Amino acid sequence: MMRVKNRMDLAADACSCGGWLQHWDNYSRQRANFCMVIGCDGKPEAGGWVQKEAEPDRLVIVPLCKACAAKVGQTLEIVNNVNLVSAGTDDTCGRKKASGY
Ligand SMILES: [Zn+2]
Ligand SMILES: [Zn+2]
Repeated sequence: MMRVKNRMDLAADACSCGGWLQHWDNYSRQRANFCMVIGCDGKPEAGGWVQKEAEPDRLVIVPLCKACAAKVGQTLEIVNNVNLVSAGTDDTCGRKKASGY
């Protein structure tokens, strides 16, 4: 179990992936069948912006259902085995391609 804080209040406009759930899909190398909140079996409908309690200066994306994504500012308990994808696009989809690729 991992404790994270819902920071959907900081969510930026969709990145070049076309949406934050797609962004998570593209970089997590996992598939989401359910919302990652423990005990929630909602469909993954949003790429949720969260902060790990242990790493509050980093924003990461996890798949959440609409109801959990709406719990702005609340602490959520999520499963341990989810790959957290950086919400910063510098090291993912916004990475500059090497010149002459
Ligand atoms: Zn992206
Ligand atoms: Zn949920």
